Order: sequence, then C-alpha cells, then structure tokens
Amino acid sequence: MSAASVKGWCPGALRPMQSGDGLVVRVRPFGGRLDADQTAGLAHLAERHGNGLIDVTSRANLQIRGVSETSHRPLLDGLAQLNLLDPDTGTESRRNILVTPFWRDGDETQALAAELEEALADSMLELPTKFGFAVDDGKSRVLAGNSADVRIERDAAGGLVVRADGARLGRNVARGEAVNTALAFASWFAASGGRARMATHLAAGAKLPEALHGEAEPATIMAAARPGLYPQGALVGIAFGQMPHTTLNQLSGCGHALRMTPWRMVLSEGKRTMPSASGLITEAYDPALRVIACSGAPRCREAHADTRGLAAALAPNIGGAERLHVSGCAKGCAHSGAAAITLVATPAGFDLVRGGSTRDAPILRGLDRDDIVRNPSILMGGH
Ligand code: SF4
Repeated sequence: MSAASVKGWCPGALRPMQSGDGLVVRVRPFGGRLDADQTAGLAHLAERHGNGLIDVTSRANLQIRGVSETSHRPLLDGLAQLNLLDPDTGTESRRNILVTPFWRDGDETQALAAELEEALADSMLELPTKFGFAVDDGKSRVLAGNSADVRIERDAAGGLVVRADGARLGRNVARGEAVNTALAFASWFAASGGRARMATHLAAGAKLPEALHGEAEPATIMAAARPGLYPQGALVGIAFGQMPHTTLNQLSGCGHALRMTPWRMVLSEGKRTMPSASGLITEAYDPALRVIACSGAPRCREAHADTRGLAAALAPNIGGAERLHVSGCAKGCAHSGAAAITLVATPAGFDLVRGGSTRDAPILRGLDRDDIVRNPSILMGGH
C-alpha cells in the first residue's frame, strides 16, 4: 500500500494525502518562517511538480497540490535542497508548532521554536496526529483561538508560562525550562491516556500532576489580526486559503521572508507597503475574509458544486462578525468547525446549517444555487 493511500493522519511532505486533484504535499516551515529563497523555491516546485496551486492551512503550513506519484520523489528532493524536509515521518508528524508571526528581532520566539523543534525531533513521544504546540510568547496572545495542546505564553509581568490547552492557568517557568516543561505536558498527556486533544482530556476529568500544575494567568488576548501594515511587515490574506505559484513567487520578490499564520494570512517580513498579486486580500475588512470555501468543483472530484464562485457571490451579504462556509461535500476539508452559516453541496442542491459544521443536521435541504444568490436572506432566516 502506498503511503498516499493510507488515511488517518495529518498529511506531511513524506506522507502526502490523496485528494481529488492528486497528492497534497504539506510543507511545515521551520520556525513558522520561509526565507525569500525558500519561498521562491517552493513556488518553483509547485509549478514543476504540482498543479501550481498552493494552500495555506489553519496549522500555518503550506500545501503543494496536484502532485503525482511519480513527481512526489523529485519534489521531496527539491524540498530537501531548500532545507524544508524532516529526516523521517515520525519527526515530521511531531513537529506540529504554531509560532506567533509578530515576533521581533532580539526576542525569544524563534529560539524557543527552534529548541522545541529539536527537542521534539529527539523525543520518542507518540502523540495523536493533531496534537500540537503554540509558541505565543508576545506581550499579548495572538494564537489563543487557534488549535494547539501545549502553549508557551507569557503572563502580564512578562514571565514565561507553559499552559495545557483547556486549563485557564499555566505554570511559570524560567527561560531554560520552557521547552522541557512543554514536553513534560505532552508526555503526561500520552502517559495518562490522552487520546486526541489536551482540552478534551482535561474536560473528561484528567488532573495535571503537581509538577505541572500552575497558578499563572496568561497575558491578554489580542483582537483578531487583520490584513494591514504592522511593525514586523505586511500581513496579507490569501483568498480561500489558496494561491497560484505566481503569487507565492511575487511574495518572495525583493528578498522578503514570509511568516506563516493559522489565519489564512501570511506576513511579508519587513515590507512597508501592501503587496498586490492575484488572490491576495489587502483590505482589513474585505468581505472575502468572511467566507471559507474548499476547492470545490471542478478542482475536486468529490465536489457537487462550484464552492468558491458561490462563496464570492455571497460574501458581501455576510455580516462583519459572521462566517460563511461553503463546502463541496460533507467532508468539510476547508473548515472542520462551526460557522454562523454552512452550505453543504449535495447531488440535490445545497443543505443549510446554521451555527454548526458540515456534520450537523441542516435546517433546510436541497436549496438551488441561483435562488440563494437571488435571495441570500434565506441564509439568515429570511425569505
Ligand atoms: S470538502 Fe470540498 S475539497 Fe473536501 S472532498 Fe469535499 S468537495 Fe473536495
């Protein structure tokens, strides 16, 4: 059985996932950052060995799409030359780390992330595939709403805190203890029978041992980041979380590194003007930020409809605080969680779920695409 035909893990570069448009090869940038040469190199590899489309994922990774079984090996060789490949699948799957994109030169974020990567590579930890870490050690937290199980944060006084996801308080640690403590949380999770995620393990009654217990309140949470200029560079959205290789290549122009985020945005390091290229969202309140859509037809063979065309048509009608998720089938590849409005394509039209995910029961079934566009108030409960 080829690696690509096995299911049940998060895809990586060494173990890609089969999708409607070929293999999906996930690249996990070290430290959540690609230098300009790596960015340009990835764009080239996506054009040469994939179908030219690149996803940015909610785990702050990139995915090269449309790779064939025969082009997978040369693609891996290219990733190795760019220093973007792990030595083996175990190391690759453990290296599941979100890093705040708002670090500054001279702070500890990149060093903490590198130490954590190294410690995970050296460890023999066997963790569930979605189990991950966040290095969110700025003055305020920016990754609190994103998926991670063990978090390295700060308290209001600037001290480092390691916190289990799902616990309100964390444990104050010295700089030199932070990474070992983070691994100790993960080891305890595995040893105490944790199956999937830390928060569900704690919610089910698992009690942290005294050695990991803490009373430190983590720092305040920063308002959701939006496209715009920041001291660290230009933060841009990627429409529908996917861009052509030409856009990635343009982002690498002028020697700017890219910092990854889990928000379908990338930060062009040190850039002082907003970049412009196909599929980039540069306005802070662009309606396109309110919609999520999977590849859909004709890009995915499982799809029952063109998801992105419908999402783009409906975006201006979605309230500023709401999210519309349009899925080409019930798998919900683009977004596994709940959204204010979810439309799921079926052979008989679109099913409508309010306040739920593609797995929840719809309140209306078999809606016609053109009727929805003509009368979008139906999504909100009007007629
Ligand atoms: S959710 Fe979308 S991308 Fe995923 S399998 Fe279904 S149609 Fe394809």
